[in-house]
Amino acid sequence: MSEILKVLKGTKDILPQDVNMWHLVEQKADEIFSKYGFKEIRTPIIEVTELFSRGVGDTTDIVNKEMYTFEKSDRSITLRPENTAGVVRAYIENGMSRLSAPVKLWYKGPMFRYERPQAGRQRQFHQVGVEMFGIKQPTADAEVILMATNFLKSLGLNDLEVEINSLGCPKCREEFKNRLKEVLKPYLSELCEDCQKRYEKNPLRLLDCKVESCKKIFEKPEIQEVVNSDFICEECEEHYTAVKLYLDRMGVKYIENKQLVRGLDYYNRTVFEIKSNNLGSQNAVCGGGRYDGLVGQLGGEPTPAIGFAMGMERLISLIPKLEPKKLDGYIVSEHPVDAFLFAEELRHEGLNVEFDLTTKKFSKQIEKAAKVAKYALILGEDEIANHCVSIKNLEKGTQITVDRIDCIKMLEL
Ligand code: ATP
Ligand code: MG
Repeated sequence: MSEILKVLKGTKDILPQDVNMWHLVEQKADEIFSKYGFKEIRTPIIEVTELFSRGVGDTTDIVNKEMYTFEKSDRSITLRPENTAGVVRAYIENGMSRLSAPVKLWYKGPMFRYERPQAGRQRQFHQVGVEMFGIKQPTADAEVILMATNFLKSLGLNDLEVEINSLGCPKCREEFKNRLKEVLKPYLSELCEDCQKRYEKNPLRLLDCKVESCKKIFEKPEIQEVVNSDFICEECEEHYTAVKLYLDRMGVKYIENKQLVRGLDYYNRTVFEIKSNNLGSQNAVCGGGRYDGLVGQLGGEPTPAIGFAMGMERLISLIPKLEPKKLDGYIVSEHPVDAFLFAEELRHEGLNVEFDLTTKKFSKQIEKAAKVAKYALILGEDEIANHCVSIKNLEKGTQITVDRIDCIKMLEL
């Protein structure tokens, strides 16, 4: 016998009994995002590597350690680790800046990151996300955050916490970065290797470090004082205040977290995360923020933008399991041609129907029907002779015989 091959580490099969949860999340995404005028976009899973090194930022873990990159015909190609860069590329390439703002797009699909697999963390995982282009006003930030919370509510997830922060703009952030570097300098040798690298290239990212010994250092009072200082300029402050005001008026509860910096380089001003207390240490279901510089950085006209991405596996793990869907009917008959014809007729009318392809004994077929369907549709000798069907409600155990024409009417579907 040949050796059995296994799924790659950090990847998972989504089995038929779980697919209805995925459908639910996808349908709700379509339904809720459509209400706000977002349209779905599907971009390729492979992109040129440069899109991510330029778009996500070459000081991020994603680009430095986590990308699946390979060469093909002298081109470096990468499996997308996230989809903002891809959507921005598509926005620019398809001239969507000529459309009247805002351009509102949403997506769903697999992402790939070479991370250490653990509960809530896979190497192939799925995200559902949105991007809104062309609006610099704080109304956009509030609408996107409000929509994220409404989407989560539509999935029955109510006890989630929204955290927000403002990273300011490149101008006011510069001063903050310098102060942060100054106060961290004495601890430089105690920081993890990654943080030591980030210190020069992207000191803000230090605050996002998950290493315990680094987290301890950031708790020191002199560092907290800098973290909690109001460094953002007047314009950024005004923007941030307005976002919070809109959220207050829309009844969105949030917590301000000054240490929230997000892992990606492209954010400015508003950043946010939505967390669950029921997920253990991988507790973020949603991450997002404003990225006014990215479209310009990827060669488009400078365009303000904001978006978020949610981890679908983490969402699904929070939703109570749905019962697997049963067939509407299972035809029980020892006459395959009649069963075939009747099944096709019902399928044509929109029902989900199967019959026994192996023509087992009547009693075996009834047993099978009880497992997989809501109704057993029995075509015995009499029913065939009289063009009738006996309908057995497999939950209640009741049975009636009707003309086949009337069959669908009699099913409570
Ligand atoms: P984390 O801090 O958990 O690594 P992140 O900052 O890398 O998250 P984003 O890049 O903002 O996450 O992605 C948005 C969401 O996608 C996350 O909040 C999470 O729900 C999900 N996500 C990210 N990486 C993974 C992964 N490896 N496996 C499963 N879900 C993930
Ligand atoms: Mg990550």
